[in-house]
Amino acid sequence: MTEAHEYQSLYRKWRPQRFADVVHQEYTVRTLQNAILSNQIAHAYLLAGPRGVGKTSIARIFAKAINCTNPQHGEPCNQCDMCKKITRGNALDVIEIDGASNRGIDQIRQLREEVNFVHAEAQYKVYIIDEVHMLTNEAFNALLKTLEEPPKHVVFIFATTEPHKVPLTIISRCQAFELKLLPPERIEKRLQEICEAEKINASPKVLTAISYRARGALRDAIVMLEQLASYKGAARIEEHDLFEIMGLASEETVQEFLQALLTRQGRRALEIIADLAERGKDLELFVDELIEQTRDWIIAALDGHPVPAEARVETLIGLSTQLLGLKRELGRAWEKRILLEVKALELTQAVPGFEQAPPQLSAAAPPREQSAKAPRATKKAHAEPEPSAAGSTPAQDKWAQVLEEVKRERRGTVHALLLDGQPVELSDTLRIEYDLQHTFHKESLEKHRKYLEEVIARVYGPRRVEIAFMQAAESPTRRKSKSAELREKAELLKQAFDGEIVS
Ligand SMILES: [Zn+2]
Repeated sequence: MTEAHEYQSLYRKWRPQRFADVVHQEYTVRTLQNAILSNQIAHAYLLAGPRGVGKTSIARIFAKAINCTNPQHGEPCNQCDMCKKITRGNALDVIEIDGASNRGIDQIRQLREEVNFVHAEAQYKVYIIDEVHMLTNEAFNALLKTLEEPPKHVVFIFATTEPHKVPLTIISRCQAFELKLLPPERIEKRLQEICEAEKINASPKVLTAISYRARGALRDAIVMLEQLASYKGAARIEEHDLFEIMGLASEETVQEFLQALLTRQGRRALEIIADLAERGKDLELFVDELIEQTRDWIIAALDGHPVPAEARVETLIGLSTQLLGLKRELGRAWEKRILLEVKALELTQAVPGFEQAPPQLSAAAPPREQSAKAPRATKKAHAEPEPSAAGSTPAQDKWAQVLEEVKRERRGTVHALLLDGQPVELSDTLRIEYDLQHTFHKESLEKHRKYLEEVIARVYGPRRVEIAFMQAAESPTRRKSKSAELREKAELLKQAFDGEIVS
């Protein structure tokens, strides 16, 4: 392939070639540059971080900077033969190995043999191993032998999206850096620069939308921009083009669909699905958008910001659990549209999980089974309708009142923690029970004990407050299904919120 015919993607073209061009990884860049300037090059570096934030770009710049024949303040000149070769990817002494496609030990064996050969032309022989965590154990062991007695003038640069999968024995021999996701503002600024230089005509709104949608990965943002630019040609790129080309539904559609679910308008939900399907929208992406919107609403509600009237936190949590389950199912399904339709209908009908689980903890439908004496064992997990609010005791109303007060006082964290607890009223004590899986909840709630005692005293009168784990002996059937359900919920939420559930 000659250079004249070689199509260079926007991402490649705008790949940083100097440390100064790397966006948002200042600490890593400065440290590496200082190492070069002070001539203290380590034998091995580990660059850990999410995809699309610049790991391999930094590795290549580093390889150039230490081999450049005319370096400039720790930066490569990008003009000398060495720099040019490395940029083109045909320098003999800079070897890139993709851990994901070279899991076999052969490559590392070969590496072990080669590594001892004197470098051909460059000052340093550099091995860049991308996705190093994908290597097999044998390959790691072979690599480790090399790292134990590293030949002079050999530098390893490992990159990984999953540093916890890299053996400690390797990590301990590396100087490690953690690369960060880019904030949307920095992505947007970079996109603006690219648009200006490439004469891409894009509305500021679409650049903002791309920046958020890229979720911290600059590479993804540039790829999106490029897709849009080639789709529109010279015409101005507007925000709706992004939805169009990505097969995404508009924000309004997403919100309208969620509203339809929350207000139980099954017919409206089906109309929206039909419309999306006819316009060739990607239904899996649509479910992703639903999950994101639900998450945004939960966070807004916890922060006391306005959300649609039907969108109570507890309902939204139940809904996001259902949507996350749907997302998994959808990935395997052939008939995605039918599956989505069935799910939408289920959600707008009274279905266990959505209908019952969340509202049972709210004021509208107070928690069932408050009394420790209630024979929980006689209840079946999901098969039967739960007792209605009419059957509730004053104690249940009190708990709902506690939840309401906490919510009204905008103690979002405490509210969220209480939602998963079961109040049990004893003579002079109010016990809040948690599943054994919810150690986190119990511990976190203890931190708010003072406030909690105060609210409970307000509603129940003076009580000793006990935060406990449920006894395993109680109703094994229900306990099992409920705890499994809660565990699943917690896990799903954790995934959805990247581990930040209620902080
Ligand atoms: Zn150079």
